[in-house]
Amino acid sequence: MTFSVHGLAVSRGVAIGRAVLVASSRADVGQYFVGPDKTETEIERVRISCNAVTDEITRLQNDLPKDAPHEIAALLDVHLMLLQDEQLIDGINHWITDRHYNAEWALITQYELIARQFDEMEDPYLRERKADLEQVIERILRHMKGVASPLQHVGGRAGSSRKHSQDLLLDDTQDVPLVLVAHDISPADMLQFKQSLFAGFATDVGGKTSHTAIVARSMDIPAVVGARSASQLIKQDDWVIIDGEAGVLIVDPSPIILAEYGFKQRQGELERQRLNRLKNTPALTMDGQRIELLANIEMPDDTLGAVEAGAVGVGLFRSEFLFMGRHGKLPDENEQYQAYRKAIEGMQGLPVTIRTVDIGSDKPLDRPAGKVQDRHLNPALGLRAIRWSLADPPMFLTQLRAILRAAFHGRVNLLVPMLAHASEIRQTLALIAQARAQLDKHGVPYGPVHLGAMIEVPAAALTVPLFLRYFDFLSIGTNDLTQYTLAIDRADEAVAHLYDPCHPAVLRLIADTIAECQRQGKGITVCGEMAGDITMTRLLLGLGLRSFSMHPSQILAVKQQILRADTAKLKVWAQQVRDSEEPGLLL
Ligand code: PEP
Ligand code: MG
Repeated sequence: MTFSVHGLAVSRGVAIGRAVLVASSRADVGQYFVGPDKTETEIERVRISCNAVTDEITRLQNDLPKDAPHEIAALLDVHLMLLQDEQLIDGINHWITDRHYNAEWALITQYELIARQFDEMEDPYLRERKADLEQVIERILRHMKGVASPLQHVGGRAGSSRKHSQDLLLDDTQDVPLVLVAHDISPADMLQFKQSLFAGFATDVGGKTSHTAIVARSMDIPAVVGARSASQLIKQDDWVIIDGEAGVLIVDPSPIILAEYGFKQRQGELERQRLNRLKNTPALTMDGQRIELLANIEMPDDTLGAVEAGAVGVGLFRSEFLFMGRHGKLPDENEQYQAYRKAIEGMQGLPVTIRTVDIGSDKPLDRPAGKVQDRHLNPALGLRAIRWSLADPPMFLTQLRAILRAAFHGRVNLLVPMLAHASEIRQTLALIAQARAQLDKHGVPYGPVHLGAMIEVPAAALTVPLFLRYFDFLSIGTNDLTQYTLAIDRADEAVAHLYDPCHPAVLRLIADTIAECQRQGKGITVCGEMAGDITMTRLLLGLGLRSFSMHPSQILAVKQQILRADTAKLKVWAQQVRDSEEPGLLL
């Protein structure tokens, strides 16, 4: 039966595919796709493990003392029966053969399906058989660990305590479009999906500017976050439509709905083709103002998409993605240098703004538990970004040296996140000087950098002149500026309705920052999600912004807005919007 689940729209477009659920009950089991030539091996692993469990239970039965309560023998009988249950075995084989799931994933998936059926049973005795099934599954899984999968290297990490998307990389043998549904996905795991072929994704939790959503947006696939109980309501293999624009999931759609969304999908494709024609058109407003359109990237390879979309540089390289999901092993100076250099060379002479590491909050490092940043109650207000860097000078110096060395190969801007205090500014600059001195001492070549600060806490936005004394340019991080001005956790869907970059207080901070930079002739960019939101383009232009940094996939749509804009007219209107009680209503 068709039903819909509502969440928050993350990225435009429509995806139609079968749901791949990241199993909620057994998140510690490796989940990955296997090629068609490996399905027999996986089925064999299940068979060997089931046989081993059958032997184990039979032995237990034989060894039961004569006076053991007869319930125990009966229970073991039930377990033996479950091991031969056709629904279980056939289901597992189906997931492996038809969906190319690895053995463990197939087992968990089928277990969840049957467990749901048990939950729905009227008879309490039968309902309780779910616990027996669970025990049998546990036993099989234990045995499977001993039966090596030829694909363990692909990422199957039995025993790991988190879901890892690299375990879910799709191979290109899939012919049915698949959409990923999960309770939550970490930003680092989300990044892994860039290499996969998922057509869309949905999560129960997350806000529109959570970093998971940001990475999804950068992938330019339809996505919905904050869909509350989607991962419970949607079953494995259900047909799901993800409407990334409306923030809706439609499950088990009727033929009429499917046809309508199929039409929408084709319309979206046509719109993309139309936008593609703007690739080589200069970003000039109707009154001749040249607007700088820059790219936000997470990894050096993203520069390909940036150049392709016609970005005139990288306005934000979120370097923390080089640091995340590595189980605490941070990238050394050389690895970082190579990554930054790759990004610089990828931009073919265009400038690259490398932001120093912004770890913390919803971007944990994934270090072993117990490290200092994991212990705090309010991570968004805790040891994050520059605070984290200044707390570990050797780590920070390593990154600074790597960036300075990379700057030898092209135009680099070095951007510092989340500064608030003059003392932090001074410490940061001292460490940059120290990094230069270290390179000088060892005769290592390095290049000049422009220094920039992010304005993303109200304290910074209210002291812009201080920042301009020390920095060559500023970049407004509207995602955090909104979060910290309104005291709204940007990753929390429960308060997402209050997260509003158009709140008069936020707009005032943005407008005043732009105005002060202009007055002093310093560069000012917006690099938060607002810059790539076409409903905000006119407002930002009216407030005087001339430099926007966004995901490459958003550049052409924003350019289209720019081509239609007249900044002289927008200026007057933007002042009215800024001064209004509810600016959002005027957009
Ligand atoms: C921002 O806060 O707006 C920003 C660009 O940084 P991030 O989203 O990585 O926190
Ligand atoms: Mg930020």
